[in-house]
Amino acid sequence: MKNLQAIRGMNDVLPDRSPAWQYLEQQMRVLFDRYGYREVRTPVVEDTALFKRSIGEVTDIVEKEMYTFADRNDESLTLRPEGTAGVVRAAIQHGLLHNQIQKLWYTGAMFRYERPQKGRYRQFHQFGAEIFGLEGPDIDAELIIMTARLWQQLGIAEHLRLELNTLGTAASRGRYRDDLVAFLRTHEARLDEDSRRRLETNPLRILDSKNPDTQSILNDAPDFMDYIDDESAAHFSVLCAQLDQAGVSYRVNPRLVRGLDYYGRTVFEWITDALGAQGTVLGGGRYDALVEQLGGKPVPAIGFGMGVERLLLLLETLGVVPESVFTTVDAYLISMGEDADMALLPLAERIREANPTLRLQTHLGGGGFKSKMKKADRSGARLALILGEDELQQQVFTVKDLRTGEDQYELAWNDSARLTAALNNE
Ligand code: ATP
Ligand code: MG
Repeated sequence: MKNLQAIRGMNDVLPDRSPAWQYLEQQMRVLFDRYGYREVRTPVVEDTALFKRSIGEVTDIVEKEMYTFADRNDESLTLRPEGTAGVVRAAIQHGLLHNQIQKLWYTGAMFRYERPQKGRYRQFHQFGAEIFGLEGPDIDAELIIMTARLWQQLGIAEHLRLELNTLGTAASRGRYRDDLVAFLRTHEARLDEDSRRRLETNPLRILDSKNPDTQSILNDAPDFMDYIDDESAAHFSVLCAQLDQAGVSYRVNPRLVRGLDYYGRTVFEWITDALGAQGTVLGGGRYDALVEQLGGKPVPAIGFGMGVERLLLLLETLGVVPESVFTTVDAYLISMGEDADMALLPLAERIREANPTLRLQTHLGGGGFKSKMKKADRSGARLALILGEDELQQQVFTVKDLRTGEDQYELAWNDSARLTAALNNE
């Protein structure tokens, strides 16, 4: 019989690594709290039409990356490939956008049928933020400043750089697109196959082609800055000034376009060189037209999506996940002898009752003293609490500090203060 395996590109997070995930999740929650964001949770599955209408019919995601299936009722459903569309759908559906500012965040699994490789998976996870009801550019600046603070908080600021661009309004983009297509047609023979196809479908995406030949053709292409509308240009220059004021450095990259159709005006990416080709850790931008496009009254909006796996890879590569998060047990309780074995579980409950934050592991499954102590050590616990027949009589346990080699000593069962001190003192 064939062994059952996880689906290609979909990963298990095993207990050795889950503390790193929890660490990052905790950091994200704290960050969002500090900036006044509230969490929103939306379903993993949505109507396929939602993604087609928002992300765009001729984007890579919709053309070839979605997990789409017919349910038993023959409705076309899709596992969400990103978070924004669902959040916008929920915000419209539940009336969250009527004359209100919403600062929302989400996290969860996303699904894309891509070629699995380092930093690119078929089920991956994102944290994201979406802000509704603010035209910017002050919120654009604050959102970016918040992400810069995240890198500070995680101790990786010098390994990430910010790229920034503006895509103007749909009208200015349209005029530019026409001229870009006209220009590229004159070089069509030299374009790579992907770019030739995009000439018909999504020409702006050619700007961020990875093909060096295509990039060199683009050196002589029309410059979007010559097409941008005045309001978008002013928006962008205030954003840049606010980032300068805040001391956030960036590079304006006129070829940064992002892969989703709903973006306009501000777009940005945080990129690292430490992960090879999959270097974009966080990407976002403004999507002022999307709410209306999905059936709501027009509401300006901006957001970002951040890849959890990529950020964790980066944290692990740089060795900046604090060692302490991998310790998940404080004390390991061992019994020796029949009566002590019987007393173990009730005593453990008593200790938990008196020490609500103590992470206590009981030794279960029998064995000799030596093997029990070995397991205590391997658990990562600071203290072994040993309950033998004598200790049982005297209502104490023998405490062995597994990390300092300090002499063992006896501790009364109800002496929570000394137990806490023993865990906290060096
Ligand atoms: P890329 O250019 O790397 O394909 P993208 O433009 O498709 O990224 P978005 O759709 O904006 O990315 O998603 C935001 C973030 O989510 C990315 O910057 C990345 O960190 C992460 N991400 C996107 N696709 C994947 C994937 N298949 N596996 C893991 N992380 C991903
Ligand atoms: Mg992609």
